[in-house]
Amino acid sequence: MPSDEDDWVIADSAWWGRWFDRCAVRLRRGRPVGTGPLPPSSVPRGAPVRHVEGTLLPGLRDAHVHSGLVDLRAVRAGGIAQVDDLGSVPALIAELLAADDPKLPQIRAVGAFLTAPGGYPSDRSWAPPGSFREVRSVADAESAVGEQHRFGVRAIKVVLHPDAGPTLPARVLEAIVSTAHDIGLPVIAHAEGDNTVRDAYEAGVDGLAHTPWTERIDDRLLTDVAQRMSWISTLDIHGYGADAVELRTAIDNLRRFFHLGGTIYYGTDLGNGPLPMGVNPREIAALQTAGLAPEDVLTAMTDLDAAIPPCWVPSGLDRPSSRFAASLRTARVLDPAPTS
Ligand SMILES: [Zn+2]
Repeated sequence: MPSDEDDWVIADSAWWGRWFDRCAVRLRRGRPVGTGPLPPSSVPRGAPVRHVEGTLLPGLRDAHVHSGLVDLRAVRAGGIAQVDDLGSVPALIAELLAADDPKLPQIRAVGAFLTAPGGYPSDRSWAPPGSFREVRSVADAESAVGEQHRFGVRAIKVVLHPDAGPTLPARVLEAIVSTAHDIGLPVIAHAEGDNTVRDAYEAGVDGLAHTPWTERIDDRLLTDVAQRMSWISTLDIHGYGADAVELRTAIDNLRRFFHLGGTIYYGTDLGNGPLPMGVNPREIAALQTAGLAPEDVLTAMTDLDAAIPPCWVPSGLDRPSSRFAASLRTARVLDPAPTS
């Protein structure tokens, strides 16, 4: 690619997998290219350069959002560069992607919830027709996964929630997982209720949409789970800042999962209750309570290899733990340079 398409941003500091002092990052159409921050002297003579005060970061991601239930422009204005939609009407996602609106975050989606006939969330007021797909048999499992795949999803979402209605039989769940894996898609489960984390693990599910909160996961199962599964945090939906037994159970599970080397993604379940649009300082503080250092939180919120617009904290990211969450709340997505 010709370098004259590129512009550079020079920041006072950066976190990009590690901390950097004053440095430069090369952008193409507003997205980082290359291997991360370089010394400012690396910027070629005459190249377009912008200076930003404060701390530059890879684009911040919320890995659990329901696009149909929130104002995504407000989410981006609140510092989130990318959202993973974790259950919406596929046509709505297609519409958002087609809009190609620079005020929207980048969106990746899982398509519809795959669930048993009459199962969660088919009876919920927030789940419009099309946002869930009832799966009736092993053969239907293959069809359902294929349908989501044709929508261009990046993962498949399944529901294991036996207290809220019928659930998928094990053989149907396994058919969903194997069909998804055959076409290169991971499977993310909503696992709620006794033994559902074990059931998800044994079926080959790759990730959980929520840190388990309905039961304590014993260390033996957790050791296996941490080897293979990733968890999306969603801690703040329990209590929304107030203490709650579910929050304590989730933080205890997450602390031990993290200690065992499990992969954690920052995600808030935006659309579920009174959550702030954009970066959620309570979610970050809860992750810190579970033992994550500021750098671990940034790792959970970013992907160094993703082609998404970077973020920056205009007054500089405050690294001490006690001020970190409030400081990161002021993050903004870096708009592309105006084209001349
Ligand atoms: Zn959700």
